[in-house]
Amino acid sequence: MHRLFWQEQLEQYTPVTPRFVCTCSRLRTGHMLVTLGRAEVDSILAEQGVVSVTCDFCNALYSFDAVDVGHLFATGSSDLSHPGRRH
Ligand SMILES: [Zn+2]
Repeated sequence: MHRLFWQEQLEQYTPVTPRFVCTCSRLRTGHMLVTLGRAEVDSILAEQGVVSVTCDFCNALYSFDAVDVGHLFATGSSDLSHPGRRH
């Protein structure tokens, strides 16, 4: 009887995966880099050839090379860096 009880207990101890889901994404990370500023990102690129960002929460790694960074600043920041853009 003892034994059965044990087994039941063990089965309920299956690891519970935390409900926490990180909301990070490559898009968000890219936005973060844009807010960091082109000069800052360029200096990292010059130094390391690639900008790698690791999420503090889920450890996801996002890396951006020169081409990615070019894209980021071409698309992501058009509304940030040209607030008074007119035609
Ligand atoms: Zn994350």
